[in-house]
Amino acid sequence: MTSEESLVTQAQNTWCPGCGNFAIQHAMKFVIQELEAEGISRDQFVLVSGIGCHAKIADYFQLNSFYSLHGRTIPVATGIKMANPDLKVICFAGDGDLYAEGLDHLIHAAKRNIDITVICHNNRVYGLTTGQYTPTSPYGYKGKSTPQGLHEYPLNVIELLLGSGATFVSRAYTRRLPHLRRIFREAIMHPGFAHVDVLQICASFFNMTTWYDERIYETSESNAGLFEFACRTAQQWNYNDDAKIPIGIFFKTKKPVLPEKKIKKEVNRSNLVKTILDRAT
Ligand code: SF4
Repeated sequence: MTSEESLVTQAQNTWCPGCGNFAIQHAMKFVIQELEAEGISRDQFVLVSGIGCHAKIADYFQLNSFYSLHGRTIPVATGIKMANPDLKVICFAGDGDLYAEGLDHLIHAAKRNIDITVICHNNRVYGLTTGQYTPTSPYGYKGKSTPQGLHEYPLNVIELLLGSGATFVSRAYTRRLPHLRRIFREAIMHPGFAHVDVLQICASFFNMTTWYDERIYETSESNAGLFEFACRTAQQWNYNDDAKIPIGIFFKTKKPVLPEKKIKKEVNRSNLVKTILDRAT
């Protein structure tokens, strides 16, 4: 692949008009082109998607990609990164995909600080299967599987990620494009596990455009290294109430990263074995 070739494939796009997935694709395209101009080869990017409307993004990008199973983007991305630490591995997953079936993988990836970027297309509904509730749907949500209203409260996934040890935790919104691009770029360049929870408009089954537009604001990131600050900011909105909704980088810190150290140790170990064998012969 050369930088002259289009990053977008000729595949027919089947997202609904007005879908927030277009903004995610556009922002990612912008950031990859920017990073390419700064010297990161196009071949270094690998995209991994799950199952759901979001997952078609793997078909729409002219990049190395792996269309994986429902809830299993993170194990696939982890394997790719461990096999070749030089790659920039970016997971795209839906909220039903990542925060339900894939939740255990998410928690442990954050805990081990594997150097991948995870982008959740959080439209708070199962769009591809026409409107069932997900772990981030609000209390009372009426959909195909909850015609009388959902009786569960949503997961505050930002709090969950902070509690799991993630070293980069952020939230963005598909109708704030320059902000979305900046968060994507910072997440990709972060050394370690980076999570972006993107509030994504589902135009067909849970259109929150006006509601979000009235509440979302860009939070100050000057204290993004402070865990207490991150927790307080995460609690401003719990994915359910009527409060203002902060977007931005909630928390960013440094911790030992996988796979670099492990690979180094393995190389050292194999050197040691070679030295011992050389001396014995
Ligand atoms: Fe987008 Fe919703 Fe349509 Fe899926 S169902 S393509 S999420 S608007």
